[in-house]
Amino acid sequence: MIQTLQAVRGMSDILPDEAEIWENFEDIVRDWLKGYGYRPIRMPIVEPEALFHRAIGEVTDIVEKEMYAFEDALNGERLALRPEGTAGCVRAAIQHSLVASGGPQRLYYQGPMFRHERPQKGRYRQFHQIGVEALGFAGPDIDAELIIMCARLWGQLGLTDLSLELNSLGSVEERADHRTALIAYLESRRDKLDEDAQRRLHSNPLRILDTKNPAMQEIVEAAPKLFDHLGEESRAHFETVQALLTDAGIAFRINHRLVRGLDYYNRTVFEWVSDQLGAQGTVCAGGRYDALVGQLGGKPMPAAGFAMGLERLIALWRESGEAEYAVERPIPDAYMVHQGEGAQRLAFRAAEALRDVGFDVLLHCGGGSFKSQMKKADASGALLALVVGEDEVAADEIGIKPLRDGGEQHRVSFQALPEAVAGAIYGIEAQQDDEPQGGNGQGAENGGV
Ligand code: ATP
Ligand code: MG
Repeated sequence: MIQTLQAVRGMSDILPDEAEIWENFEDIVRDWLKGYGYRPIRMPIVEPEALFHRAIGEVTDIVEKEMYAFEDALNGERLALRPEGTAGCVRAAIQHSLVASGGPQRLYYQGPMFRHERPQKGRYRQFHQIGVEALGFAGPDIDAELIIMCARLWGQLGLTDLSLELNSLGSVEERADHRTALIAYLESRRDKLDEDAQRRLHSNPLRILDTKNPAMQEIVEAAPKLFDHLGEESRAHFETVQALLTDAGIAFRINHRLVRGLDYYNRTVFEWVSDQLGAQGTVCAGGRYDALVGQLGGKPMPAAGFAMGLERLIALWRESGEAEYAVERPIPDAYMVHQGEGAQRLAFRAAEALRDVGFDVLLHCGGGSFKSQMKKADASGALLALVVGEDEVAADEIGIKPLRDGGEQHRVSFQALPEAVAGAIYGIEAQQDDEPQGGNGQGAENGGV
């Protein structure tokens, strides 16, 4: 016996019922991004490993233990599957001088990301993000716009329970100032720090504040706050962001421990969190990253952005019931049944002629009796069955059988087919519109998602 192969652990297949919901979600997202002037960019999934070391930072969860990095067996290059999109997006913008030649850029991308984490609900090794990056914008206006646009998307998706957490990480100098105070504080409690914190004490103490270890909570709660080290400009920037959010009617909570997992953030950082997803509650996270472009070798330029986790967002969307409501199952206008070699050829011609004028036609493939083909036609949800047998071939005609209103089967010439199909569908739909709810509506057999 040949053993069947399974997908890699933590990497999921998205099957048709689910994938249709994803496509619907992506359609909504694309429209929403257009409304804010964002343009698509597509980067490779594989990048030089060094890109992520430089962008994300050496002492981060991603670089230390989550990255799929490997050597290209053919030429020895060190490569990595992208664990996130910002680094690649900024690399591409620098490489192609996007901002230098085109001014500030509003960009978005979507696609799979890879992190070698312990798989669990809402946490996978291949997951999907939609990322939004605004390059070349310095002011608090763009920070606020990024957050406000998220709120609009939640509204469009019908998600009502997402809450916003906000913080400011200040400037590089202000962080350095706070860092000194933080290290001194943590050193005085060294014996109470867990292994991770001990290791990060001097390399990345800010990340210790992000710890999920319950035993560490008391210590980090009482730690020196970055906020108290912010200078005039950083405070003013943060205040404007807050004022713009308040104007937009968006509620937020300032969370002094929100430091984000990646090194590159400064000033505004934010997360949108749901309490419906258990421990994996963050569905969208982002902030400002003014140093990154320079860090990757570009002419220094301010920037801000965010990334949404699609698995978590779509799970939430499904739980809310709104996804089912929005999803459109593809239902053909007509299902073509046929029997005999001549009939098959006429059926192919007829189906193509109908598609020429925009109808969706499911052509029966695989043979079988008329009876079994009609069963398939019925199950497809199509309004019409189109029937081609020997008699039809002899007359160069096609049979039209309404499937949903008990109407009579009749025959029309090949030439008259498109118009006759349009008329039959129009007639059925008009009748359905007149019926009270619960009529034999299109796709009733398909049931819910
Ligand atoms: P977490 O603290 O949950 O590990 P993170 O800070 O590592 O999140 P980001 O790098 O900010 O996450 O990624 C942005 C979003 O992408 C997250 O808020 C989440 O929705 C999603 N995400 C991140 N890692 C995963 C994963 N392994 N599986 C599914 N979604 C993920
Ligand atoms: Mg993570």
